[in-house]
Amino acid sequence: MDNNKKMVGMSFNRFTTCSALFAMAFSLLLIITLLMYQNSTFYLSDSEGFSKDNILGRRRPYNVTTKDLGLTARATNTSDINVEPPQRLSQEILNITETEDRAQNLTESNEGLEISSCSRFTNDSISPVKSVTQQLYDGLLASGFDEPSCISRFQSHLYRKSSPHKPSSYLISKLRNYEEIHRKCGPGTRYYYKTMKKLVKSKKNNVDTTRKYLVWTPAIGLGNRIISMAASFVYAVLTHRVLLVKFENDMMGLFCEPFLNSTWVFSKDPPFWNPKHVETYENMLAKNSSPSVLYLNLQHTRDDPEKFFHCDHNQKLVQKVPLLILRTDQYFVPSLFMIPSFNLEIAQMFPERDTVFHHVGNYLFHPSNEAWGQISRFYDAYLAKADEKIGLQIRLFTPDSTPHKAVMDLLLSCTLQHKLLPELDKKNSVASTSTHEDPSLKVVLVASLFPEFGEKLRIMYLTEPTITGEVIGVYQPSHGGYQKFRNNLHNMKAWIDMYLLSLCDVLVTTSASTFGYVAQGLGGMKPWHLYRLVGNRTLHPNPPGQRDFSMEPCYQIPPKRNCEGKAIKDFSSSFPYMRSCLDYSSGVKLVNVSV
Ligand code: GDP
Repeated sequence: MDNNKKMVGMSFNRFTTCSALFAMAFSLLLIITLLMYQNSTFYLSDSEGFSKDNILGRRRPYNVTTKDLGLTARATNTSDINVEPPQRLSQEILNITETEDRAQNLTESNEGLEISSCSRFTNDSISPVKSVTQQLYDGLLASGFDEPSCISRFQSHLYRKSSPHKPSSYLISKLRNYEEIHRKCGPGTRYYYKTMKKLVKSKKNNVDTTRKYLVWTPAIGLGNRIISMAASFVYAVLTHRVLLVKFENDMMGLFCEPFLNSTWVFSKDPPFWNPKHVETYENMLAKNSSPSVLYLNLQHTRDDPEKFFHCDHNQKLVQKVPLLILRTDQYFVPSLFMIPSFNLEIAQMFPERDTVFHHVGNYLFHPSNEAWGQISRFYDAYLAKADEKIGLQIRLFTPDSTPHKAVMDLLLSCTLQHKLLPELDKKNSVASTSTHEDPSLKVVLVASLFPEFGEKLRIMYLTEPTITGEVIGVYQPSHGGYQKFRNNLHNMKAWIDMYLLSLCDVLVTTSASTFGYVAQGLGGMKPWHLYRLVGNRTLHPNPPGQRDFSMEPCYQIPPKRNCEGKAIKDFSSSFPYMRSCLDYSSGVKLVNVSV
């Protein structure tokens, strides 16, 4: 019995020990499994860039922090906030990517995951995440950005009249979808690095990649660059390409990064900057086969041979090219409406045809903190109190042969005749404005390379009263003297001038100037055009200046032939939402008509 008890006792003890050991081992196993599971989930979601946090924009791909991106505000005072130039940003992302690459030493299966993650978001099913930021610009802007990295994104709406033009929900979903693609396949991702490396070294045609890229390259002045970047973005969205911009030093630090948790700056580092084997568009057409890297020059001149970029056959070839390098100074959006395979899509994105640049410009181009500091301080000091703000943009294309007096005469006859500015009260020149109760204040913002125009106008309205009793203040933020190339400060001043013009209530711009197009588009205004002077006279003396019918930029050099090779004589008969530009006779622009 005792022995039995002992036996039972021993077995019981052994059982307890075994159970305890088993429980411990089981717990340990459970913890290990959980940890592994957690890690694998983390790893998978990380490699896919698809974790909840990432979707909500809370985590950066590859753990790139705001600090890593050089976007951390160093002080809360706007003027003290310093943002590192995007060039450093892209370099850092690249370094991080390289380190990650080496450290993680991806297996084939993981590469598969990365690629599938990159190709995952090709539909438009992502529903926008609601937040306060999303209400800015009626949902045009994505949420999740931190304010110190780009103050203008959060503040500019306080300086602008609310736009009556709302982005379509389809456009908003396309943008959210594009942002996902950019974040998953743009700079800073392993996919980008591997694909680019493959492409820029490739000699072969038809290197196939899941995701394709469009590299915008700059041509001529800042106005041309901004409108052509906007057009390139629309094209990238339509063709599911990732847009990258090849900024030289003169373009650095003007804009905030437009896409959350990523950069759009094309890396300057070898081998990306100069791919080895680049085919020209003309060669591609001759061979009728798509290369891996294509250089497409759409920088039209009047005498260019027709490129037929607006034709589906050529688009099919272009669309197969993984890396498309585009050089253009044109706002070629109207040609995208001409391409049958894009037509429905783009029309759905922009049901109000004349709002393409208005929406895309306000989506892409947010002044950097440095630019915004100057814009907002200038605005607060000189424009904020005005009852009405008139923007005057005076551009001389041939300054040496254009007498300033003729420009001034044209400017005055346009603004006075159309009652944009009041006449002087010559009969009662001693009258003081104090005789008028609560005189209204009109402020004129003059943008010009030349100081004379602002100065003359300022003195004119200081010396004599106006017949309406209005008080006129005249301010000119800068006067660079002449157009400078490859100059970052000069571009910064131009950007500040354009943006300030866009904050005005009424705009008078110089015909054919893309500088003015940017201001009118961002501000959603149909400008009055000052006719272009040839020598000391204009070809259209009457009426002096004319109001545009659309706020869209003019596509100055559109295709001359249709896809059958016949000359296009009248755009509006083939494309009801296009009209000849008022300010550039060979040009064409989008107009809002219901079709
Ligand atoms: P466009 O030539 O008139 O179509 O306009 P662009 O912007 O493409 O090129 C003109 C360039 O000249 C600008 O980018 C500026 O560098 C300079 N510029 C011309 N007008 C002005 C102006 O009113 N203010 C400033 N800051 N720069 C100007």
